[in-house]
Formats: sequence, structure tokens, C-alpha cells
Amino acid sequence: MGLFNKIKNMFKPEASPTGKEKVISDSSAKEQKEDTVIYEKGLTKTRENFVSKLINLTNKYHKITEEYFDELEEILIMADIGVNTVMDFMERLRKRVRDEKIEKPEDIKEIIVDELFIIYVNDELIVNKINYVKDGLTVVLFVGVNGVGKTTTIAKLADKMKNEGKKVRLIAGDTFRAGAVKQLEEWANRIGVSFTGREEGSDPASVVYDGLQDALKNGDDVVLIDTAGRLQNKVNLMKELEKINKVIGKVVEGGATETLLIIDATTGQNGISQAKAFKEITDVTGIVLTKLDGTAKGGIVLAIKESVGIPVKFIGLGERKEDLQVFDIEKYIYGLFKDMM
Ligand code: GDP
Ligand code: GDP
Ligand code: MG
Repeated sequence: MGLFNKIKNMFKPEASPTGKEKVISDSSAKEQKEDTVIYEKGLTKTRENFVSKLINLTNKYHKITEEYFDELEEILIMADIGVNTVMDFMERLRKRVRDEKIEKPEDIKEIIVDELFIIYVNDELIVNKINYVKDGLTVVLFVGVNGVGKTTTIAKLADKMKNEGKKVRLIAGDTFRAGAVKQLEEWANRIGVSFTGREEGSDPASVVYDGLQDALKNGDDVVLIDTAGRLQNKVNLMKELEKINKVIGKVVEGGATETLLIIDATTGQNGISQAKAFKEITDVTGIVLTKLDGTAKGGIVLAIKESVGIPVKFIGLGERKEDLQVFDIEKYIYGLFKDMM
């Protein structure tokens, strides 16, 4: 059975667990279904834009011709999938159409879904979860430019972690932006997790140091560290992150467990440039792509993986806390192609 049918069947409402299916996550079937709905809703703009164009294309051509391929290429590029990804994709698609002697556009859609999946997975083992430290403090550092959703993402993740039974602390390492410390503190209070912050303008590394000490004293499981992302001053930002990392390494063996880069999906190719810049500055272990609900160009998930080589670990599909989701390529593809399946 091809991927197309697998995904289609996976999310059929009437599909009942037989106990034989591969376990894809530790959450219950009910949660899986709720998550799928969040994906569907959050990807509405992209789906309406991208898939409706694909459907129109399929209806317009009765045979697969060069013009058909050209138009398809254009649609994929407009969805922000990334030029190189699209080129590779088109090459593979043409080859399969040739080899499998496909003539009708109608019969090509399964191959499109299949090949998009292959681009992303690319034979790699993709780890979407936070790699928690066993029996020790897990340190997650959040980086990214202003306004991308760092602080809200920290709050959403903290809430998830707390619900999983973890002792969580937020550390206000963004001492630069006016109101940032307060904003994080309010979140900590609202969610009911611990907080370490100093006044605005404090040395971020020293706040981090204090926060880590607090965490050790309090026996916390996880700290989530907010930072200021002044990419316009790259040298300073690099020094600041180096200093923060040095302090983390001093307190916790091995340094930060994860460094998550937050990218705003609505910024399109600019977001990709940010990812490249941050990758040069610090060791990014994963990307959180926020505001996917606010763009019709949700193909950026695929472009980021291809152009930066860092996995997207979480995506933001709205402003509610449930809207932060572990990135799941199968749900994503379903969210995009639902109307075509
Ligand atoms: P920061 O400057 O990087 O810390 O950004 P903030 O966390 O303050 O967020 C900036 C704005 O983006 C806020 O209004 C958030 O509610 C909004 N936001 C964050 N994530 C999402 C998302 O996934 N979808 C939508 N629609 N809005 C989001
Ligand atoms: P710096 O060169 O003295 O700024 O030191 P680091 O880059 O190692 O650390 C940055 C900040 O973290 C310092 O300014 C301190 O506020 C804090 N810090 C680092 N190590 C220690 C330590 O061993 N004790 C205390 N009290 N604070 C520390
Ligand atoms: Mg912030």
C-alpha cells in the first residue's frame, strides 16, 4: 500500500484500532484525532491556496504535457517549498510518470503526495521530541528574532511539559526587549511553573546562571530559557549566546540539551535566511515553525528541512496552547491534501 493510502486510512474516522498498527506516538487515539483536527484547521490557508490550484490543474489538463509540468512547478514554488526542492521533486516526478507510464493528471496526485513525503523524510531518522536528560536537568534554549513567537512558544511548551508531570522553570534571558521579563513571568504564573528573572538590562548570562542554580536547588526537571534575538547585530548576538552557553556548560554537564530556533512561517524566504544565519551563530538542534495557520505558503516546512538541514520539531498552528504541535509529517501531508484524498 502506498503512502497516499496509508495516510488516507490512518485518519479515517471509522478506523478502529486493531492492536496491530505500528504505534506512532505514545498519545491515545483520541488525542491523535484531536491533533489531526488541529493540523487540518491550522493548514486551511495553505490547503485552500495550494491544493485548490492542484485540483484546478488536474481538471484543466486531460493529458500530462510539458505545460502541465510547468504549471505544477510554478504552483509548488508559490507554496514556498523552495526552488531546489521543487527541482528535485520535478525530476523524480517526471521519471516516475515515464517509468510508470502515467498519462492522466488524475493519476499523478498519489505520486505527488508520495514524493513530497520522500523529500522530507529522505531516509533520515527524524527525532521530533525533546531529548530529555535522564535523571538530570534538561536545558532548552530558545533563539530567534523578535516577534516570531519565542515567548508564547515557551509558554505553550511549558504547559505541555507540566501536564506531563515535569517540574518546569522559565528563565527570562531576554533582558533587552521592554516588557519581555514581565511577559514571561506572567506566563509562568498563569501556567503555574517556576520562574527566574531579573530587571531589564541585566546580563542575560548571569540571569541564566541564577536560573540554573534555582533549578538545581528546587529539583526542577526542565528549564526553558528565553533570549533576545537581535540578529541585526550578529557579532553581539553570537557573543551573548556563547556566553550563555558557557554558563550553561559550567552548571550542567554537556551544556544545553536543545537549542530551538523559532521561525515565523509567515515571513517565508526571510525565515529561511534567519535559519541560515542562526545556524552559523549557534548549534541549533531543532526548529519551531510558528504561525503556519497565518500563511497560505505552508510548504515552507519542506523548504526549511531542505535548505537548512535542521528538523522542524514543533509547529504553531494557532494562538491557543493546544495549537503547538509536535511536527508530524504524515499529519502535515494529510492536512494539506485532505481534499484530494
Ligand atoms: P517573541 O518576540 O519571539 O517572544 O514573540 P511572542 O511570543 O511575543 O509572539 C508574538 C505574537 O505572535 C503574539 O501575538 C503571539 O500570540 C503570536 N503567535 C505566536 N505563535 C503563533 C501561532 O502559531 N499562530 C498565530 N496565529 N500566532 C502566533
Ligand atoms: P564573566 O566573564 O565573569 O562575565 O563570566 P561568565 O561568562 O563565565 O559568566 C557570565 C555570568 O554568569 C557572570 O557574570 C555571573 O553573573 C554568572 N556566573 C558565572 N559563573 C559563576 C559562578 O561561579 N558564581 C556566580 N555567583 N556567578 C557566576
Ligand atoms: Mg519574547
